[in-house]
Amino acid sequence: MHLAVDDTDSRDGMCTTYLLAKMITEMPFDLIGLPRLVRLNPAVPWKTRGNGALAMRLGVGGGEPQRIGSAAEDVMCYPRLRREVSADEVMEWALPYVREHMQAGSNPGIVVSRTKPPQRLYWQGARDILSIDEVTRTLDGMGALRHGEGDGRGIVGASCAMAWRPRDRSLELLAYRQEERWGSIRHLDVSTVERLDALYPSTFNNIERRWMKAAIMPSTPCPVLYGIRGEDLPDLLSAKEMLETEDPGIWMVFLSNQGSDDHVIEDPAELLPNRSYRLGLTVSSPSRDEKGGHVIIRARRGSEELECAAYEPSKEFRNLLRLLRPGDAIDAIGELREEPRTLNLEKVLVKSLADSQVKAANPRCPRCGRAAKSVGKGAGYRCRPCSVHLPEGAAPALREQRLLVPGWYEPPVCSRRHLSKPLCRMGEEQPLDFV
Ligand code: ATP
Repeated sequence: MHLAVDDTDSRDGMCTTYLLAKMITEMPFDLIGLPRLVRLNPAVPWKTRGNGALAMRLGVGGGEPQRIGSAAEDVMCYPRLRREVSADEVMEWALPYVREHMQAGSNPGIVVSRTKPPQRLYWQGARDILSIDEVTRTLDGMGALRHGEGDGRGIVGASCAMAWRPRDRSLELLAYRQEERWGSIRHLDVSTVERLDALYPSTFNNIERRWMKAAIMPSTPCPVLYGIRGEDLPDLLSAKEMLETEDPGIWMVFLSNQGSDDHVIEDPAELLPNRSYRLGLTVSSPSRDEKGGHVIIRARRGSEELECAAYEPSKEFRNLLRLLRPGDAIDAIGELREEPRTLNLEKVLVKSLADSQVKAANPRCPRCGRAAKSVGKGAGYRCRPCSVHLPEGAAPALREQRLLVPGWYEPPVCSRRHLSKPLCRMGEEQPLDFV
């Protein structure tokens, strides 16, 4: 039987992954396969944090069980379903957990079904915006059980998570704090995270080395102590042992679509806000720095011109935009915001660099031969004694020595999206490191 849950938490506390982990450690069923942490469209306006939904399969397990976590006892999952359990029994068991742990203002949804919803639901959930009605119609058509609290919006995320058939997948080992420590400062020795990162190349997004910031540890008051992301279960289990940290209460490994780029729509005919795209663009203006530390460039896609933004939290990634020049060809991956309508960049492929010119000197006055003075940005030059005005283009130019090289560029670890595929998972390396 498949069970999926979403939207139980708020910004002030809890975490749906913790609820699922707790349910797993106490459930009267066997876990079949790994529990799943499925990230959905990061641009949905009503997400709490990372738009994650949870799904798992349960029943009576068959085959050799595997250790995937621990609470008071080891948590095991089975490779096969030996006997099915009843949907009513699963819903009856799951409901009290959700009701007890749901946070004020959340809109939980629980879905229980013998079969998975069609795969298109996952892709729509990861890339598009779905209505509760269209999702419940699909669920009713397949005879699934569903329950919503509040406005029941959580049914959308739960159904999409259940519909996921991994094309690309990663793992995350999530460790949770003991309840009495929730809200207090977390203890985690960052140097052990640095060592873990160096020793286990199958893990990713562990640490921001430049600032020695452990990206595995959240800064919110949620129950999560840390989350190690990687490709390989045995590596995650031994990497966990390296960390010097407070004792986790529960830990568990989830199968996930994190780091897959599944949210990215490639070169669409039409651009709608609140979706993420990969667009082939030609830069049409030099960058400008905005208040708050954001950097913007304009770029063209056919006849349409778009603003692309690297926001302050993306730190040195903003230097990429500062080094781009009109005529450069790029592929930009990012979320299209509604207001302001900007493409919020997550990753950029610099494909080719244009010849660009830089001013070599101020132009000379054609009457007296002395260097004319600038009258302001873009406003040209003036020789005051001769009262001669010269246009901006009169200044002699040189070919610019470009500091950029073609290749893929991404923001630092701490400002990456859960769904963004890091370059290390793409077999790519950023050709330049910005300081
Ligand atoms: P956390 O990451 O901390 O678990 P969250 O960011 O996942 O929190 P939720 O509380 O789950 O936030 O809220 C997201 C809400 O958006 C859920 O109700 C979910 O059903 C809904 N949702 C998710 N994806 C879509 C989508 N593509 N279209 C419409 N609704 C969606």
